[in-house]
Amino acid sequence: MNNGRIRALTGLCLSVLLLGGCGRRQEQEPISRSEFLLNTFVTVTIYDSQDESLLEDCLDLCRDYENLLSATIPGSEIYQINHRTPGTERVQVSEETAKLIGEGLYFGDLTDGAFDITIEPLSSLWDFTSEDPVLPDPEAIRQAANKVDYRKVQVEGNEIVLLSPDVSIDLGAIAKGYIADRMKDYLQEHGVESAVLNLGGNVLCLGERPDGTPFRIGLQMPFEDRNETIAALEINDLSVVTSGVYERHFVIDGVNYHHILNPHSGYPYENGLLSVTIVSPRSVDGDALSTSCFSLGLEKGMELAESMEGVYAYFVTDDYEIHYSQGAEELLDKQPSA
Ligand code: ADP
Ligand code: MG
Repeated sequence: MNNGRIRALTGLCLSVLLLGGCGRRQEQEPISRSEFLLNTFVTVTIYDSQDESLLEDCLDLCRDYENLLSATIPGSEIYQINHRTPGTERVQVSEETAKLIGEGLYFGDLTDGAFDITIEPLSSLWDFTSEDPVLPDPEAIRQAANKVDYRKVQVEGNEIVLLSPDVSIDLGAIAKGYIADRMKDYLQEHGVESAVLNLGGNVLCLGERPDGTPFRIGLQMPFEDRNETIAALEINDLSVVTSGVYERHFVIDGVNYHHILNPHSGYPYENGLLSVTIVSPRSVDGDALSTSCFSLGLEKGMELAESMEGVYAYFVTDDYEIHYSQGAEELLDKQPSA
């Protein structure tokens, strides 16, 4: 490993946000729309078209995919798998769902099960959205953890084979990236060459700004106002995805419980990491990798990130240092943040 590192000034963690350009030349105002989808705010911003219907259609596409891939929306294909009639071993799904489940299983193999899309019994037990969170019962956690094992799921064509009656799927760690990629395809097919998709901090840039400068993606200070950044990246046509301990979390008796769960113990990973940010061409890889690398911890996670072609990683440890994968420092924007 040959990682650069800097010491940040204060407690920090990374999340992403779109910053203003450097204003070299007057541009026409971008068009933008946000909607609450995928349990977060999804924003589409287009820089080289004034056609508002593109925004609406792109958000509709996002909603369609949520209805296909959500574990909690009755009628979704994932819901149908998870609520199959007892004794059912095979469930027919669309080609896209089958492919995405296959990708999720692939990251299970890559991480030796630290990343596991059959996390559903655990992720539904922990409630990170409640106003008044409670710790799940330890025995219930143990029982749920026993059900998690991605090797009990196989994909055969468009059929999902479930080798255990207890196994159920949650694509929460990978679906946003996949959907972002499809929204990007949609915009490109409709002639858009300059846009930013932001799915709750899962950012995918299409092309560059109309004046030829890169998009500036801010890395957010943790637990702070969303506009506070500690660094910014210069991004052309790439995805920037962060997994962190502060997005969906609660604190009880001074302990921070967050939503990236260890499939073996059933409890959130505690490995000294505050966040992992991944820059990659495809957002589905960035999404899967940010969660995977987080799950593996600094050393093994860095190894995994560095083994992937065209991928840059930023690990933030709880001593407030940023650890860069090889070449990742080169994407840092050197100008003062906006
Ligand atoms: P975010 O949802 O903030 O984008 P992630 O992409 O890291 O964050 O995904 C976290 C989600 O993934 C959890 O909310 C849960 O649905 C699921 N998950 C939790 N732990 C794991 C794990 N070990 N492997 C795979 N998926 C997980
Ligand atoms: Mg993820």
